[in-house]
Amino acid sequence: MVETSPGISSRPLRVAVVGSGPSGFYAAEALFKTEGLSVCVDMFDRLPTPYGLVRGGVAPDHQKIKGVTRVYEKIAAHEGFRFFGNVELGRDLQVEDLTACYDQIVYAVGNESDRSMGIPGEELGGVYSATEFVGWYNGHPAFCDRQFDLSEATRVAVIGNGNVAMDVTRVLLQNPETLAETDISDHALTQLRSSSVKEVVLLGRRGPAQAAFSPKEIKEIAELEGCDLVVEPSDAKLDELSVRWLAEKGSRAAQRNADFLTEQSTKGEGESDRKVRCRFLVSPVELQGEGGGVCRVRIERSELYEDDRGTPRPRGLDQFDEEEVQLVFRAVGYRGVPIAGVPFNEDWGTIPHAEGRVLTCEGGEPCPGHYVVGWAKRGPTGLIGTNSADSKATVESMVADASSLSPAEKGDINTLLADRSVDFVSWTDWQNLDRHETEMGESKGKVRDKLISIEAMMDVIGSMRDG
Ligand code: NAP
Repeated sequence: MVETSPGISSRPLRVAVVGSGPSGFYAAEALFKTEGLSVCVDMFDRLPTPYGLVRGGVAPDHQKIKGVTRVYEKIAAHEGFRFFGNVELGRDLQVEDLTACYDQIVYAVGNESDRSMGIPGEELGGVYSATEFVGWYNGHPAFCDRQFDLSEATRVAVIGNGNVAMDVTRVLLQNPETLAETDISDHALTQLRSSSVKEVVLLGRRGPAQAAFSPKEIKEIAELEGCDLVVEPSDAKLDELSVRWLAEKGSRAAQRNADFLTEQSTKGEGESDRKVRCRFLVSPVELQGEGGGVCRVRIERSELYEDDRGTPRPRGLDQFDEEEVQLVFRAVGYRGVPIAGVPFNEDWGTIPHAEGRVLTCEGGEPCPGHYVVGWAKRGPTGLIGTNSADSKATVESMVADASSLSPAEKGDINTLLADRSVDFVSWTDWQNLDRHETEMGESKGKVRDKLISIEAMMDVIGSMRDG
């Protein structure tokens, strides 16, 4: 560090991280681990609770994955770390407020919304995005008021072949008593207990070799108690392009998926009364309804062709068929939403950047002091751990830029929040809420009993402050 720039003990580098999911925590960790850098990190979240998709996205029956929060707790224990929960950028604070108080700002805001398919019928009753279903069963305050009536539906279509499609399928067909011990929201458990869903049809627009799910996830579906994973041999069979693509460019995961689905296709229908049917090379072209509710997915069969980058893509064959279903979940990927005052690429749903430095537009000028990590940077891909290397890369850019910063006085965010009467949640407040939720969970035989409204969270936090 240059003596006159921030980053020394008498004038630490002051960084705001907006978003407290994995990418935000890994950015904080990389900053704290930078040798010779003295840094204070203030992390903001619009919810009173931290951890982003680890709390609100990871499925309740994947508690092992949620265990990563122990790593984040260690990062939060650093003396230079502060948490400001229940503070929303754009509502309680504006970007200019952050630039007045910090040398650098990191947007770790993830992808809050989801993609639509752009086909007729998406507005019908009984057609949902996986994002809202996942948020609902995970007790995310933004999705708690959603209604999913599972008691009338026996057959459901899940569109997409990613890991979110796997999560939705598993939660729909899993024994609810297994989920009862997890941190699933009570309202979801009640609905799942009265569910009549017996069959999920998984619709993949490309072939088995191009499925985006992890081998471990599809295997877990096959291992679901009381449920058969059914793959027709004609669906599992690889076309010539896929065989060549797998040999030349396919990942190990793609080969394992293809092998597993071939093996699965020899097992026939099975004897369980619950089924997951995998169909490949089928693109939904229309959702049809009766009385305002979805009753059918019209499907066009596809073949694969090689695009100019050598990637197999689907192309319609003008041959159609239908699946009779009473509910549809589209799990076709997440999408970012813009933040006032922060550049945004409307086509990709991400913040334009070069090596993590925010740009005015794709290929445009850098916005000094503004950085991006995680899904807001690279789009909704990768597993939780992918964010570690990604955040480190952005932090390298931040550290390189820090040496040319002026050590000018910065404002105090505490004063600003107090002036605006923003009731923010500190890390100690969160730890109290965390304890409350786990103790409540224990008394109900669950891992955790999540509070699902911001008001209820703030009430508990308030009572613990007073106590
Ligand atoms: P994803 O992995 O990108 O999968 C999206 C799926 O939707 C793909 O199969 C895609 O097909 C399909 N799709 C996209 N547009 C479509 C359309 N118009 N019609 C039909 N199908 C369409 O996204 P995701 O499942 O939302 O997951 C996001 C990220 O989170 C992934 O990296 C995932 O691995 C991760 N995640 C991990 C876990 C876990 O580890 N347990 C759990 C959940 C999520 P194409 O391939 O043809 O585009």
